[in-house]
Amino acid sequence: MSSIKSVLIDKETIQNMVRSLGERITGDYKGKELIMVGVLKGGFVFLADLIREIKIPVIVEFMSVSSYGSSTKSSGVVKIIKDLDVDIAGKHVLIVEDIIDTGLTLKYLKELLMARGPLSVKICSALDKPSRRKVDIAVDYKGIEIPDEFVIGYGLDYGERYRNLPDVCILDPEG
Ligand code: 5GP
Repeated sequence: MSSIKSVLIDKETIQNMVRSLGERITGDYKGKELIMVGVLKGGFVFLADLIREIKIPVIVEFMSVSSYGSSTKSSGVVKIIKDLDVDIAGKHVLIVEDIIDTGLTLKYLKELLMARGPLSVKICSALDKPSRRKVDIAVDYKGIEIPDEFVIGYGLDYGERYRNLPDVCILDPEG
């Protein structure tokens, strides 16, 4: 059993964060061809909101990598389950993630995509837990920094549940 301990970030705060990131991305990529890569599954809610705040044409792609499974601790193992459907050589790529925790997933993904000859690979993450970082990685577009808590909602799951919560909440594993 588990449940929600408290709301950490409400949906209005999330909306404002998404809007301001969308404005920055729109300005930074004006006149460029941008491929936005959503990282499944957690990143799909943020990506869906973010693309509607971006006022330039973008291509949307998805990748799926293994991360936490149903546990709340990172295994450090990153495996590609679904790869991109397009060639990114000569293109600008923006990886869109739900949360950056240890940084292992995004470091691996960024290096993998960089090896395919894109013009650039940048990272956009809705949430950031800087206190848990294990590797040095730049988050080019960062939403909201959070403390070292396991969060659910806004795409983030616990055992595949709670992704549909509109707020980012703190999980109560005892609940
Ligand atoms: P990292 O490789 O940076 O440690 O972890 C990234 C992935 O771990 C995220 O995409 C997400 O799937 C998962 N993750 C990290 N922290 C949390 C959290 O607080 N809640 C949930 N539900 N997943 C998390």
